Amino acid sequence: MVFFVVKLKKLHEFAIEEGKKEDPRGSDQISKLLDKREDEYEDLEGVKKEKYDEDKLNNPFDDSKLIFGADREVEKLAVGIDIETQDLLLLDRLREKGEDIDGAIAHHPVGRALANLHEVLKLQVDTLVNVDVPVSQAESFVKKRSKDVMNGTHGGNHPRAPKTAELLNIPLMSLHTAADNHAHQFIKDYLEEKDPYKISDLMDVLLEIPEYKWALEYDMGPTIFNGDEDNRVGKLAYDYTGGTELGKERLEKMAQSGVNTIVAMHMSKDQIEEAQEQNINVVASGHMSSDSIGLNILLDKAKKEFGIDIVEFSGFKRVSRL
Ligand SMILES: [Zn+2]
Repeated sequence: MVFFVVKLKKLHEFAIEEGKKEDPRGSDQISKLLDKREDEYEDLEGVKKEKYDEDKLNNPFDDSKLIFGADREVEKLAVGIDIETQDLLLLDRLREKGEDIDGAIAHHPVGRALANLHEVLKLQVDTLVNVDVPVSQAESFVKKRSKDVMNGTHGGNHPRAPKTAELLNIPLMSLHTAADNHAHQFIKDYLEEKDPYKISDLMDVLLEIPEYKWALEYDMGPTIFNGDEDNRVGKLAYDYTGGTELGKERLEKMAQSGVNTIVAMHMSKDQIEEAQEQNINVVASGHMSSDSIGLNILLDKAKKEFGIDIVEFSGFKRVSRL
């Protein structure tokens, strides 16, 4: 394998373009969103214009950002589900020992990518519409949840990880929804093709995916959170992309629109209780493993284009489909 050097910002731009192609909103919706931002940007003045993140004009994924070292050339990258201060210190330690790692890709957002996580929730209007939830209802609870997420992340220590990367001189970017869109599209296509009849069949076909097989080593394999092996799968919905989970109200609407089973990366307690109430089967496929799937598919594309080398970090399992 020949490895090439590429500027981090080029790699980021590539990942964003690939993320757009897999987006459940479709390209028209994304263009409209970016046009709206362009208009808003034109109207800004003073410090608000000065400090505006111009990447937002081309990048609809506000949780997938260049964090530090955009112009630096990279060849070998550490990829982790969570890359925070401790992981950057580990990377620096490995460099001290002679490992030539040039930079890092964090899946979960850090810095301004985390501060803006609420923005990507809006794409879940379309994942809901795709399972026949009326758009007005989807918009109403996505808007509410997006506001709650914004309030929740607002007080976070967002400069911490970027500052660590800067002090240790480690180029860093986060690729969250740009990668999760790949996981969403993959699992949707895969399960539509396999068409499992019972939940037990669904569990079996999930375990044919190498990342889910790997997860068994840590007892974090696919698990039934609600329902029973004997239940029929019926109409499927997927919780794989769109930042973070929506409020539990959505489950009642999903039940009304005919959803029988949700395959989710993970699900919180109040959502599971609501799924019990609504008699919706829930299969949690696994968090680290599902996040790895999205990253792997995106990294395969980047590898083809730029030949980068990858080091597994922090919960990420590299599986190549090339
Ligand atoms: Zn995740």
